[in-house]
Amino acid sequence: MTDTEKPINFIQQVINADLDAGHVTKVITRFPPEPNGYLHIGHAKSICVNFGLAADNGGGCNLRFDDTNPEKEDEEYVNAIIEDVRWLGFQWQGDICYASNYFDQLYSWAQHLINKEKAYICELNSEQMREYRGTLTEVGKNSPYRDRPASESLALLEQMKVGAVDEGTMTLRAKIDMASPNINMRDPVMYRIKKMAHQRTGDAWNIYPSYDFAHGQEDAIEGVTHSVCTLEFAANRPLYEWFVANLPLPSQPRQYEFGRLNLNYTVTSKRKLKQLVDENHVEGWDDPRMPTISGLRRRGVTASSIRDFCDSLAVAKTDGVVDMAQFEHFIRDDLNNNARRAMCVINPLLVTLANYDTDKNESFVVPGHPNRDDLGERTLPFGRQIYIDRNDFSEDTTLSRKKFKRLVIGDYVRLRNAYIIRADEVIRDAAGEIIEIIGAVVPDTVGQDAPEGIKARGVVHWVSATESADCTVNLYDRLFNKAAPDAGEESFLEHINPLSLTIISGCKVEAGLVHAAAEEHYQFEREGYFTRDSKNNGLVFNCTIGLRDNWK
Ligand code: ATP
Ligand code: MG
Repeated sequence: MTDTEKPINFIQQVINADLDAGHVTKVITRFPPEPNGYLHIGHAKSICVNFGLAADNGGGCNLRFDDTNPEKEDEEYVNAIIEDVRWLGFQWQGDICYASNYFDQLYSWAQHLINKEKAYICELNSEQMREYRGTLTEVGKNSPYRDRPASESLALLEQMKVGAVDEGTMTLRAKIDMASPNINMRDPVMYRIKKMAHQRTGDAWNIYPSYDFAHGQEDAIEGVTHSVCTLEFAANRPLYEWFVANLPLPSQPRQYEFGRLNLNYTVTSKRKLKQLVDENHVEGWDDPRMPTISGLRRRGVTASSIRDFCDSLAVAKTDGVVDMAQFEHFIRDDLNNNARRAMCVINPLLVTLANYDTDKNESFVVPGHPNRDDLGERTLPFGRQIYIDRNDFSEDTTLSRKKFKRLVIGDYVRLRNAYIIRADEVIRDAAGEIIEIIGAVVPDTVGQDAPEGIKARGVVHWVSATESADCTVNLYDRLFNKAAPDAGEESFLEHINPLSLTIISGCKVEAGLVHAAAEEHYQFEREGYFTRDSKNNGLVFNCTIGLRDNWK
């Protein structure tokens, strides 16, 4: 999928035409998150598209916080977003931009429109405004305040700004067309009163610009040439263009829309993700089950697999739902090529090899990765006692060799990178549970075939009982047990999978892994891909993904 030549998407076609015609000399795009939550996988697509278009055309991409609504915004989100964009591997041009840096400029452009009789202060309350707006089938009515003198509107706007007017009693509206078939054009609100401190401008403002009045103007200030957003803004485009046409802007940006990325078995809406966090359905925005960039990162998903996945998706003019399996393909592919191998026994069962000398100690040097010499080697200490996984042993001697390629009483199995061993008997505790296997090594079988008459059923992973480390693993299942959790009438919360997290402590891992760095990736052989958790001080590994797609 990745190595085929990608077709040129429609935005690149527009860019090519603009460059050819000389309308544009340097392509400038922007990624404009509102800092009201953490970024999710859908934002990653927007980031890849915007930064990708800039890079492909020798241009630049701005990171701009669309911080026009202090009610839901927070510094924590700003910092998390910066970190996520950087971690994904992108560098914005120049300084980080903030819509709030342009509040003075926006205000003077609002005054400009009032002076041109293209904006007015309206005193309808929100209910009346709704009534006057009309519907899809019915035209709206002009506000009784529509034709008030510009001087009056200018004075009232100033009063609103300084906090002398009550919230909800006045707005500044653009004077466009109450009969427009596009409801966005029916005298949309440009400023509303919010007597609320802003995380960056403090108490300076008691009014804040609407998205529509802010966005295109922010683009123009920054010299953005191609303002790329998602399809839900298509109906706002005529308004975007109206402001561009009616204001003395320093440049003439244009808006283009592409389809949102949705993934099945999860939700990609900051509002819903925030609800999962606020109501403690997950441990936080970076919970490894979350589709947030920070959650995926903590889970062990690499930045390059997120980029490759996003690049594999069409930039289309329709919204789509992408199968999680497609994303997982890229995650697995990257980890298979780049993750160091290690052995971790998740459900340890002690094996005592009775014919191995108590004081004998060997170790085997094995590759860090089967075909990546640059990942070095590791040393596996071996001794009389080892652990294998409980699931790799059975007492049932009738199990066919084909069906159960693991250890069975009276039969042989190869320990990965080590000896062939035989199981002879089991030891049980008072409750009847098997606590130990007594067996034997077959001499001279390290790196060598078994002698005549001995055939290992299969290969199992193991660790030394004396020279391994205790660890905890977190195993994950999908956060939702329904493909489209938010498609129905009912709350998406009803489809939360109660078994999305399984914590297993007392696992045994190669001793070298106590030095694993946070977020370092490993393939635990025969188990899956794991990464060291970045939040826990102890030795905790999060399962990123299984080795094979075993998802029905
Ligand atoms: P949400 O609905 O999750 O709150 P949003 O669109 O309100 O997302 P913004 O912070 O406004 O979030 O988004 C920043 C940019 O990311 C916008 O240009 C938006 O179009 C884009 N974006 C958001 N969600 C997706 C998605 N699922 N797929 C592609 N692009 C997205
Ligand atoms: Mg938004």
